[in-house]
Amino acid sequence: MDRRDFIASLGAATVASHLPMWAADAPVSSSRITLLHTNDTHSHIEPFGPGNGPISGLGGVARRATLVRQLRQQLGSVLLLDAGDTFQGTPYFNRYKGRLDYQLMRRLGYDAGTLGNHDFDNGVAMLVEAMESMEQLKHPNPPFAFVNCNFDFKGTPTLGRRVQPYLIREFPGIRVGITGVGVAFAGLVTPKNHEGLTWKDPYESLQPVVKRLREVEKADLVVVLSHLGYDMKGTAPDDLLMPGQVAGIDAIIGGHSHTFLDAPTRVPQVKGETLIFQVGFGGVNLGRMDFAVARGAIRSASGSSMPVLG
Ligand SMILES: [Zn+2]
Repeated sequence: MDRRDFIASLGAATVASHLPMWAADAPVSSSRITLLHTNDTHSHIEPFGPGNGPISGLGGVARRATLVRQLRQQLGSVLLLDAGDTFQGTPYFNRYKGRLDYQLMRRLGYDAGTLGNHDFDNGVAMLVEAMESMEQLKHPNPPFAFVNCNFDFKGTPTLGRRVQPYLIREFPGIRVGITGVGVAFAGLVTPKNHEGLTWKDPYESLQPVVKRLREVEKADLVVVLSHLGYDMKGTAPDDLLMPGQVAGIDAIIGGHSHTFLDAPTRVPQVKGETLIFQVGFGGVNLGRMDFAVARGAIRSASGSSMPVLG
């Protein structure tokens, strides 16, 4: 063996002997998932016209569809979610009673949504009709799911069987649990429009569901679609107080208060943190939160609000 071969063999031996240690020290390869989300779209099928201040020219379902399609192609593991109040706000709602909104959401490939107060504006029967029209649409995308854990549907079985307390979606290396909560009806929905439905405390309703998602369903990422509002200043349960009341939530996708946030609000938890996000209303923005998960724990989380432009 000449000197060069000797050094080469030494190098190889050194590399080999260090390999197991390097492998252990190497960063764990993480799996990534992106949550795309809207809230309070309020039947804004078309972009906002001129004269709407800072939101003039923004929004529109067709442009949102393009943005979502581009992001799905780029990112791979994507969930498209909505935090409620799909109904009410333009002549499209008066004409189509929410059927158009839900059908378009299915065409865009929404995975799940929750119910806001305005989704009851025409009563339970009309809400169910809009859901049925979305289910019956002939389209390659499956019907999207409705999630809520704080409404008691005992008196409205036709609606109850269309809303599930939570949903599990599996991606390579990540299990995502998604649940939802709605705002109290008092003062927002007339009693005849929510006949058969009872509202329950959202925090108390979430606690066992989130625990189940973590411990039984083994979700790596727990997401709450919330139509409670961002900051109700202590007058009602809200998104800002939720992380202190319910442990184990990674992301709250909010609605109801039409709050424009540029990036998620981060609330530290005993273990990890909760990201709270809401992107205004009317579909002018698309929210985006990215999570990297490795060995069942979240390694990084970030987010931004993306304007829906032409
Ligand atoms: Zn709203």
